[in-house]
Amino acid sequence: MNGRPQLNFVLCPSFHGATLLSLLLNNHSEITSLGDAIPSRKYDQTCACQAKVSECPFWTELGKRLDVERFSECGNFLPGLPLYSTRDGRGRHATRWYRKAHKRFGPGIWRFAPRAARRFAGLYQDFYQQACDLQSATIFVDGSKSIERAVIFRNLYGPRAKMRIIHLYRDPRGYFNSCKKHRDQSAESCAREWTEYHRLVKQEFEGRRGIDYLRICYEDVCHQPSAAMAQLFAFLDVANEDVVRPPEPHKNHLMGNKMLATFDGVVQVDWSWRERISIAEQQRVLQIAGSDATERGYH
Ligand SMILES: [Zn+2]
Repeated sequence: MNGRPQLNFVLCPSFHGATLLSLLLNNHSEITSLGDAIPSRKYDQTCACQAKVSECPFWTELGKRLDVERFSECGNFLPGLPLYSTRDGRGRHATRWYRKAHKRFGPGIWRFAPRAARRFAGLYQDFYQQACDLQSATIFVDGSKSIERAVIFRNLYGPRAKMRIIHLYRDPRGYFNSCKKHRDQSAESCAREWTEYHRLVKQEFEGRRGIDYLRICYEDVCHQPSAAMAQLFAFLDVANEDVVRPPEPHKNHLMGNKMLATFDGVVQVDWSWRERISIAEQQRVLQIAGSDATERGYH
């Protein structure tokens, strides 16, 4: 990853199959992708290798190489947003100020904090590089679904970096079924969230100079995984490989949902929403998602 930075992101809301997609990408011999989350510091998460993160040899070594103890005040293994120094009052104050501004104005605000943004980008590039080195890979795909991080990188580097965005869609009715189950959300709020997120990704990345953008659907990844992965590997400029299988033990250090512990190489579309949500709820979700859903073939 020397020379022009290469930055690859999977962007989607929760419950879109990002863990599965990351697992399949990570099964490629040239790619490292570590699931759809950065380990939390709030509790000791279980890695895909089934060890706790604090005892997993991969995450322990990565933590040492990146000196992550300096971020012990953050909620995660690495900070989710740029930071000024956490060791003095001025740094903490500046961090709080910019984070408030971020909440209000979005990730574009970090243009006005270029030193913090550069340090943040450098930290993540180091993370990508060290993770690849540990797994003898050459390409890192950031599957942690952080639109903020992708925007900060884009604003900082522009066309000086090679940026690839994999925009993952899922049927909004399937998304609603998961949101209802895990968050007790209404059809209206869920469909609005789905629409706003996908519009934002398109607005920020589709058709932008210097950005390669690929749209892919969760249902296609599940229905024809080999064909979908071949399309992704062409997009990432690597040779096609058969990746629809359980991970090799030395690369099995992803973070994500419980499918990581049970994946046996069989990929199936989760159609359970068809029975679990009423016809009226399905219609309401589609009505709110509108053309953003029908254009993807969800009707
Ligand atoms: Zn592990």
